Amino acid sequence: MSKLYYMPTKVIAGDGCVKENGNLMWALGRKALIVTGAHSAKANGSLDDVTGVLNSAGLDYAVFDKVMANPTIACAYEGAAFAKKNEVDFVIAIGGGSPMDAAKAIALLSRQDIAEEELFSGNYGNDVFPMAFIPTTAGTGSEVTQYSILTNHKAETKTSIAAPTLFPKLAFLDAKYMEGLSYTTTINTAIDALSHSVEGMLSNRAGAISDSLAMESISLIASCFEALKKGTLTHRQRETLLHASALGGMVIANTGTTAVHSMGYSLTYFRNVDHGRANGLLLAAFLAFVERNAPERVNTIITCMGLKSVKEFSGIMDTLLGEKEKLTEDEIARFTSIAIKTKNISNCMVVPKQEDLLDIFKAVGNIA
Ligand code: NAP
Ligand code: FE
Repeated sequence: MSKLYYMPTKVIAGDGCVKENGNLMWALGRKALIVTGAHSAKANGSLDDVTGVLNSAGLDYAVFDKVMANPTIACAYEGAAFAKKNEVDFVIAIGGGSPMDAAKAIALLSRQDIAEEELFSGNYGNDVFPMAFIPTTAGTGSEVTQYSILTNHKAETKTSIAAPTLFPKLAFLDAKYMEGLSYTTTINTAIDALSHSVEGMLSNRAGAISDSLAMESISLIASCFEALKKGTLTHRQRETLLHASALGGMVIANTGTTAVHSMGYSLTYFRNVDHGRANGLLLAAFLAFVERNAPERVNTIITCMGLKSVKEFSGIMDTLLGEKEKLTEDEIARFTSIAIKTKNISNCMVVPKQEDLLDIFKAVGNIA
């Protein structure tokens, strides 16, 4: 079976990369919509760096700073209305996965009239504002993916808009913006990145190129396990996690995610568990499930981490995650019935059945 690898985003990495390469914004347009969250971009210097670069280049901008965690469909439409009112012609996203994903939907909805019922249909044209992304968490890899994941109340889960036209044109990776990121968010986002690379290797769309990126990403993240546990990450280790996260994004851009993400969305939607943590609660149990049918594949992943067994990995995740959420029997049944319907399930190299999903959810914690 032939495998595709595609990644059109220009990635610029290193300390001070936004300021050093601000001239690249000229190729995108003359007035930017800066899409960000309420606080962090103002506090970590990223917003100042971007506005400084735009001011020096003589480019205009408007700021939409209303993106919440797990952005809603309404937020995307509100951002698009703001973009139209301010007559912008390109988009700059600054923040974690939430502002980055919202920015993609805004860039699309600003250029095309898409009704809410059609938003996840995949039936749209190529007209989208060009985008530059500056991730300030090291986890989602959204800066190099074509996915915009929005909270979908009708489906009671999170749903992706996926279109090749949603790849950002530029991504700037500077770990200095992450110096003040809490260890809780640092750990959750690192686990999200790890989950992308692991799931990418367990996807039936995995190929030689995505595997190479995934294995490098997994070993880079594992090299930071001890520092994540102790809360002693250096600047270089934060940079390592940021690069590993981008590699994980390049992986899922080509493989998609699998059961872990579909299952995790219920933990986020119904129990408000952070996205990366939700994946982390499920990842070791999913690996143990796949191991029964594809032991060599799982062994490759565990070896990339420098570990000997899924059990050893599970112990590391337990330490990183701390006390786990308790789920009721009813919740487990409900979450399973939602996850089993998602397309990510059939994307798994070893496709889990309903009872397998139940067992994986049961492994999250003691039943309340
Ligand atoms: P997030 O929801 O973007 O941000 C979490 C929190 O971290 C927010 O309170 C944010 O504050 C804060 N924050 C961000 N950067 C910071 C920094 N440098 N210093 C201090 N605080 C900072 O979390 P995320 O885990 O990065 O993104 C999760 C979202 O990404 C989910 O919606 C998930 O579905 C999506 N996702 C997308 C993809 C994809 O391929 N597109 C892949 C995986 C996940 P502010 O609100 O003030 O900024
Ligand atoms: Fe994710």
